[in-house]
Amino acid sequence: MSAIDDLATELSRLPGIGRKTALRLTYHLLRQPTDQSKRLAQALLTLGERVRPCARCFNLTEDEICSICRDPRRDQTAICVVEQASDIGAIERAGEFRGLYHVLGGRLSPLDGVGPDDLTIAALVDRVSGALGAGATEVGGVREIILATNPSLEGDATALYVQSQLANRGVTVSRIARGLPVGGDLEYADGVTIAQAITARRVM
Ligand SMILES: [Zn+2]
Repeated sequence: MSAIDDLATELSRLPGIGRKTALRLTYHLLRQPTDQSKRLAQALLTLGERVRPCARCFNLTEDEICSICRDPRRDQTAICVVEQASDIGAIERAGEFRGLYHVLGGRLSPLDGVGPDDLTIAALVDRVSGALGAGATEVGGVREIILATNPSLEGDATALYVQSQLANRGVTVSRIARGLPVGGDLEYADGVTIAQAITARRVM
């Protein structure tokens, strides 16, 4: 396989990049000064070497413990559970949640062979139990778990499973309300979304 085919094949594995775009990017890189390609290659290498999951919440970090877990100003009593580390950015940008996170590393998907043991559910239960065990009187024990898995069949099933694992552990478990996206238009929303928005309505 030629070097050009090689790179194009690797690039085409990226989300949203088809074979044609991969080839276009490859030829673009060939026209750039060699230095630029070297910097790109180095950045990719460094990424793989330095970035790893946080030992506590499985967020991506270059340290043992991520900056969110280390931040003493964050609410240590609430943990928001997400599927991927990239979901944290979206929730952080919303600016509403000031607690900690837990990254599951995916969602339950029997068809793809993803079971509970493939996710970090046991580690989450440990985090909750640990706070209730030796540190029951300790300030900062986890009191609330917010399940923010995606609003899909698998996301719902995952939330349900996690909830079952956390039952009787002294924590309040809630699921994010799903509704219309802010700035969305009722007229263009699908029926399921509207129905869920109505069911999840709150008294004002
Ligand atoms: Zn962390």
